[in-house]
This record gives sequence, C-alpha cells and structure tokens, in this order.
Amino acid sequence: MTDFDSLTAGLLVNQEGGDCSGKKEVEIENPFETKIEPPPHPVIVKAAPKVAPSTNQQQPSDSTFFNVQDFQTELRNNSIKRNKNYQEYSENITAYDIANGCSRSVFYRINNVPTNNYANKWLPVEMRCVMGSAVHDFIQDNCGTFTEQEACLKVPSKRLSTRLDCLINDDVLVEIKSCNYADLKKIMKDKKPRIKDFYQVTLYKYLIENYLDEIKQQKPTRGGTIPLLDKYDIKHFQFIYVCHELVASDTDSMSEAVKAAKNLRQLSGSKKNPFWFIQTMNVDLRTVNMPVFENIVKEKIDDILYHLNNNKIPEMDSKFIDKGACFFCIHGKVCESQG
Ligand code: SF4
Repeated sequence: MTDFDSLTAGLLVNQEGGDCSGKKEVEIENPFETKIEPPPHPVIVKAAPKVAPSTNQQQPSDSTFFNVQDFQTELRNNSIKRNKNYQEYSENITAYDIANGCSRSVFYRINNVPTNNYANKWLPVEMRCVMGSAVHDFIQDNCGTFTEQEACLKVPSKRLSTRLDCLINDDVLVEIKSCNYADLKKIMKDKKPRIKDFYQVTLYKYLIENYLDEIKQQKPTRGGTIPLLDKYDIKHFQFIYVCHELVASDTDSMSEAVKAAKNLRQLSGSKKNPFWFIQTMNVDLRTVNMPVFENIVKEKIDDILYHLNNNKIPEMDSKFIDKGACFFCIHGKVCESQG
C-alpha cells in the first residue's frame, strides 16, 4: 500500500463511521488511479497493447512552482531597484552612517555617485532586514513601558535625519536590535552592548539633548512622531537584543545552528523562559565616560559634513573609513579607482 492509499483509507474509515481495528471492511479508493468501469454485460475484449503510463500528462510544468534560483534573480533585481532609488533620494546623514558606515560610502551615496552594480552582494541581508523590522514591530506593538516610540530626530543644520526606537520618560533611551547567535553569545558573555549600537544611541542622546528645538520644528516622516517633551536628560541606555535568525553565516549547518541555540538557551540561565532569545542590556551612563563617545560622534558628523560641503572625497587614511564594510559596499569599484 502506498502512502496515498493509507491517507485515503483513513479518510474513508472516518466517513463510514468505522475504526482502525479492521473490523469494518471499507473500500479504499485511490484518487490517483485511473478507474476502469466494468462493462454492463460480459463481452469478449481483445487484449489492448500495453502502453507505458504517461507520467507527465497532467503534471504542471516546472515554471508554475516556486523556484529558489528564479527567486534569487528576482530578489537581486528588486535589490538593484531599491538601492538605486534609495541612493537617488538620499540627502541626509543617518544614524547608521555614524554608527557603522564608512565615511566615503556616505559621500558616494549622498552625491548619488553611479556604480556598476547596485545589487546587494549578500542577498539574505534582504530577508534579515524584513525580520529586523518585524522584531521591532513585535516588541513595540506589545509593550506598554515605552512612553514614546519612533521619534524622528531631523536636524537640517547638520544634514542629519534619523529616528530613535523608544523612550521611557525623559531619561531612558531604548534601542531594539535583532542579531545572530554569535553576537548574542558575545553580548551575554561580555555583559556589554555591541560597540556600534552604543555609538548609535549616543548619537540619539547627543541630538535630543542638544538640538531639540530644531528637531521639534520639523515634520515627522511617515510612521514617526516628534519628541513630546521639552527637555531630555538621558541617564540610561537600554538595549533589547533579539536573536531571531538562521540566516546568518555564523553557522555552517542546521545541526550547528540548533546546537548554538541550545547552548545559548543554557547560557541565558532561563531554560523555562520561552523568550530566552530576548536579552536586555541596561547601561547606567554615570558609569561610562560619555564625553569620549560623544566627541567621536560629533567628530564623525563634522568630518562627513566637511567632505560633503566641500565636495571632497574622504581620504583612505581617515579614521572614519571602515574597510570592514568593503565587502557589502556597492561602490567598491568606484572607490578602488579613486585610490
Ligand atoms: S569600498 Fe570600502 S572604503 Fe571604499 S567606500 Fe566602500 S566601504 Fe568605504
């Protein structure tokens, strides 16, 4: 009996009110078999020549199925359109530029410098972005602790435009981050946020404490708000790390990923907590030498602004060139040709 037969048998037993004990005999119908109706009267029929059953007569062609290879081509084309569009309308420096970016790639993007290839080099990043947004929505939509969410911080005098995740009253800045297994493990072991995340929130603190009047005069972008209060005095950063992915390249196989997840669950010390993959990291800013971090943020903003306003390409020996970002950079060829 084939698998199809046993499935059909199960359905028929239920319909007939019988059970699986075999007491009641039911006729098993295989819907995948061609039925030959018996003739009404016995007739002598000549044996027909044997014909090999056709396997593809009613099968749809391959093109009607989802195909990962074709999907990758479509995704690649979409990523070209998205990146082209983003670059064309990009006018401002973002928080990502300050926390992660290479100052030269910011210069290329804001000046809409053409490149030979706009596609993302590592396409799973597209899915990672969607998952990251979903993680933000999930936390923000289900949490009543935050007093403000998605506050837009637009500072035209610095060509800066960004949006913070959440605020709690006037003194806690909250940043939600999705991450991979390796990063979460490091964060849990070191009991420290990732340094780039720390710079990102330092930028928010710097802007909301020093440019609030200018920020409050701007219109929020879609889905954003304007900060509610007239003064903020940030004393704590809270980082909410959510490990959500197998998309990362930090595991080579599914079994390795499962093992990593199990190890992390153990490390979290809360085996019974179904949300062990969410870890928070609170930083009391009185224990941190904040001026050091704030000065780096200010210096990077000024450096990028200087090069943009004077139409000068940032030099390769600048401390704000991040060669670690070259792999993902869409301006690699242009950059190479400009020394
Ligand atoms: S290729 Fe590297 S150094 Fe050049 S702009 Fe891109 S990230 Fe910066």
